[in-house]
Amino acid sequence: MKVCKFGGTSVASAQQIQKVTAIIQSDPSRRIVVVSAPGKRFVGDIKVTDLLISLGQAALAGQAVEAPLKRVWERYSEIADGLNLDGAILDSIKIDLLNRLAGDKSNEELYMDCIKASGEDNSAKLIAAYFTSLGMKAAYLNPQDAGLVVNDLPERAQALPESYERLAALEDSETIHVFPGFFGYTADGVLRTFDRGGSDITGSILAAAVKADLYENFTDVDCVFAANPHIIQNPVEIDSMTYREMRELAYAGFAVFHDEALMPAFKASVPVCIKNTNHPSAPGTMIVAERDYSRRPVTGISADSGFSTLYVSKYLMNREIGFGRKLLQILEDDEISYEHIPSGIDNLSVIIRSHRLTPEKEARITGRIKSELHADEVYIRKDFSMVVLVGEGMKLTTGLAARAATAIARTGANIEMINQGSSEVSLVFGVLKQDETKILQELYKEFFEAALVN
Ligand code: ASP
Repeated sequence: MKVCKFGGTSVASAQQIQKVTAIIQSDPSRRIVVVSAPGKRFVGDIKVTDLLISLGQAALAGQAVEAPLKRVWERYSEIADGLNLDGAILDSIKIDLLNRLAGDKSNEELYMDCIKASGEDNSAKLIAAYFTSLGMKAAYLNPQDAGLVVNDLPERAQALPESYERLAALEDSETIHVFPGFFGYTADGVLRTFDRGGSDITGSILAAAVKADLYENFTDVDCVFAANPHIIQNPVEIDSMTYREMRELAYAGFAVFHDEALMPAFKASVPVCIKNTNHPSAPGTMIVAERDYSRRPVTGISADSGFSTLYVSKYLMNREIGFGRKLLQILEDDEISYEHIPSGIDNLSVIIRSHRLTPEKEARITGRIKSELHADEVYIRKDFSMVVLVGEGMKLTTGLAARAATAIARTGANIEMINQGSSEVSLVFGVLKQDETKILQELYKEFFEAALVN
């Protein structure tokens, strides 16, 4: 059995949904279909999820909802008309949206989750209705009925272990299940969404639960590229990579697959294939546990901006027992997670995603570090980027960090931080955001153009 997930652009219009249908019909083992909300149809278009966020925000602010509701509604009616579906499905979508808007607003976050999730939910209902209208044996499946149970963490829902047992029942079904991505329900029946782009996570959970032979993640590119094609012209196509490599690349900017989506498939040893809805015959990129990495030490190079550095120095920090714990406790008290902690003898930097900081939190954290930990110097600097070299073969290659640092030096940029995890599958350079693009270009030249085999 294969679990297939179709992203926003794959279900953005009637024409795209017809391509999805042909893909499902071409292979009877594709029996679980996870769908996103309709995404962008053209450059500059707005995803339904973003339209829903505007709609929910208007409702919470007590503003008129007619105009934003109409914009959401028009997306579904355009699709339904294009697929020649009768009015019943559109009526049910309208009633569903109105019910959600009239829901309990006492907890704004839960209210927004409920509005956002309608994007996937109604997309799945509509696509199931279309499959049925063609005579396919298909049905919409609600995540609560199917048993996708999530925790109730404030920011990010995660599937609970019992989900896997309950969803495993889908394994034997002959019906094509159309499953909405992006959300589940807590044990108390409260709807919670995953992180943005979280339909990938739903697909991975389902693939792991039914022990699928393959999890196919359909998007709008033929494969994963070794670097961002918007920056590097015709980058090398990656035919296969390991779960760890994909996780590292997804972490630092490869938006093709959500970084949280790897773990369920990895744990259940389900291979993942990234494929193109617009070109399904292309082989795509396989993500597997092991691969031959003798050909090239670096598999991909990613770069992501939006990082800040919290710099802390204190004389004899290395001898002070518990300093690191107390520092991290201060961050935890403000619900801030960290990314890296490169350190010296008397100083350390904590790298944080800038969106986690607010002026109030920054003032509170730096104030507490000074007053409670008696640090000599504390400050926060913004506008950093992380440039990450990723490759399982890196640990077998000597001189790789020297080559990377030399390539960066050629650009004239300063390296603010270097971090190599103990797995040696990634090498991270913290640099100023303004230098990110030229560094990426130079590193790509060094590892993918200068010498094709290293
Ligand atoms: N529709 C959601 C988003 O735009 C989830 C997804 O597409 O995976 O983030």
